[in-house]
Amino acid sequence: MKEKRGFSTRLIHHPGGTCSRTGAVNPPIYQVSTFAQGLEEQEFDYSRTGNPTRSVLERYIADLECASSGLAFSSGMSAVSASIMLLKSGDHLIATEGLYGGSYRALTQVFHDYGISHSFVNTREIAEISAAFRPNTRAVFLETPSNPLMGISDISAIASLVDESDALLIVDNTFMSPLLQRPIESGAHVVLHSATKFLGGHSDLLLGLVATSNAKIAARLKHLQNAMGAVPSPFDCWLLMRGMKTLGVRLAEAQRTAHTICDWLLTREEIEEVFYPGLEEGLQTEMHERQSSGSGAILSFRLDPSVKVEKFLYALNIWTVAVSLGAVESIITQPARMTHATYPEDEKRRLGIDERLIRLSVGIEAASDLIDDLACSLEGAR
Ligand code: PLP
Repeated sequence: MKEKRGFSTRLIHHPGGTCSRTGAVNPPIYQVSTFAQGLEEQEFDYSRTGNPTRSVLERYIADLECASSGLAFSSGMSAVSASIMLLKSGDHLIATEGLYGGSYRALTQVFHDYGISHSFVNTREIAEISAAFRPNTRAVFLETPSNPLMGISDISAIASLVDESDALLIVDNTFMSPLLQRPIESGAHVVLHSATKFLGGHSDLLLGLVATSNAKIAARLKHLQNAMGAVPSPFDCWLLMRGMKTLGVRLAEAQRTAHTICDWLLTREEIEEVFYPGLEEGLQTEMHERQSSGSGAILSFRLDPSVKVEKFLYALNIWTVAVSLGAVESIITQPARMTHATYPEDEKRRLGIDERLIRLSVGIEAASDLIDDLACSLEGAR
């Protein structure tokens, strides 16, 4: 679907974004649980099933992802869970190896017990995905770029592979946001977000979003949303929309600074390796450039063994040591101990997620301050 208006315009002027009754330039917050019912069928009857503020948000994400339907959930993990619940007991799912620890935990410690089996695969290689397909494979679940090693998977090639069987392609688009990557345009059936991250952008809410252009999938997700009940509050929906309006300027600025930090890290002898989409010439970069319009604001690096990791982290003044990403404030994470703590030790070692791997979520502070802070801490931690 080719959109006429530019993305930055659609971020500000979205369907339902202005109240049609009063002209208010932001949608009203319908902070209610229930709606008086007449004898005629009406759009809203109970806020778990549907709420007018949430409806505006759902149309907003559908518009941004070039999808026909959007659904909001109470967290990114409930959006992940609802997407996996499109499968049923006896089905099999292929997922990107090393994906976000919460999604790994849901697959290995929850859905596995309900009869949905999984294989973790290097989804950068199409041949490995093909080889992992079983007669009962019903979905491929991708993170691209993957968290935290920034592996790139080819969305349209995988969509074609998945279309050959009766399976779905689900893409977690949290790292890129619809500003930089719109997987439905590349053939994905379902795209989801932890809107807690770049879409919200201010570390002040938890919310998950799913978008799809398949009416049957949308109806099933709507049913799951109501039946399982993991819905966000009207206030959080409104707060998220407030954040989404500035996604374009926030992410453009954070991405610019991420490039500067990446270039600086490459000059430092305390840094063994840097992981950032588009950094190296080659197939991965070509693929990323084809399916997205930027490298984003997340990067990872591996410290040299001469650096004492905890001394480095806890000497920082501007960077916040925390989980999460995509906020206006810069966040630094040690994935092995934080976002990926749920992985078994040997699996983390195999994937290269060790205690010296550090992930940066670059915010919108002055690049020079962020670099000075990193430099000071590195020098003190040798
Ligand atoms: N997907 C990715 C890539 C994430 O990084 C996260 C959280 O860090 C989630 C999903 C889960 O989102 P939430 O914390 O909003 O439940």
